[in-house]
Amino acid sequence: MSQSKARTPILVSACLLGIACRYDGRAKPNSAVSEHLARHDLLAIPVCPEQLGGLPTPREPTRFSRGDGQDILTGHGEVVTHSGKPLTEPFRKGAEQTLLIARLCGCQSALLKERSPSCGVNQIDCDGHIVAGIGVASARLKAEGLQVFSEEDLPRGEE
Ligand code: SF4
Repeated sequence: MSQSKARTPILVSACLLGIACRYDGRAKPNSAVSEHLARHDLLAIPVCPEQLGGLPTPREPTRFSRGDGQDILTGHGEVVTHSGKPLTEPFRKGAEQTLLIARLCGCQSALLKERSPSCGVNQIDCDGHIVAGIGVASARLKAEGLQVFSEEDLPRGEE
């Protein structure tokens, strides 16, 4: 009797998979992401750290007013809405819940949406400027040893 091999689980930003969880109530489906998952026979575990942190959908867009996700983990950064309302705590909670899902599902890597204040991997929005930095959930996962990369890190040929 042949046994089918279990697929390797990977956390994926839910919006990249077509789930309408973004601040504007929309999704951001990405064909390179679906192709990557199919090509490597990966099992996508969809997560939206902002929803997991208790924020509604749709919601006011957010950005860093200070630092990045790494700085949030050390108590120095801040996330605010575009109108200036502080939202660091929901982002911190969302990152913890995302990490819990990663552990429960045995994920060792995460494919996350670039430039989001939660999911950004290489870039974030700080005070209206796109700068080098990492989102809060991405920083938390990386600190726990997960391999974290964005849809823009997918190798050429998978785009
Ligand atoms: S928090 Fe992450 S998963 Fe949720 S909408 Fe933003 S980028 Fe997508």
